[in-house]
Amino acid sequence: MISKELLDILACPKCKEPVRLDEENAGLVCDACRLRYPIRDDIPVMLIDEAEPLAGTEPTDNGA
Ligand SMILES: [Zn+2]
Repeated sequence: MISKELLDILACPKCKEPVRLDEENAGLVCDACRLRYPIRDDIPVMLIDEAEPLAGTEPTDNGA
């Protein structure tokens, strides 16, 4: 479980904005980047290379 104190100091490595815990407490979400950082063994993996794009929320204003 990620503590509130830890969550408060975590930031997205890409945009430096605060992240939030996702609904399943299984990842940390940056709403600005639409990325989800995994949590492994209760340790947040704040690496852009490890982040997954959020599903179903891609911008549609400039679609192919
Ligand atoms: Zn970000």
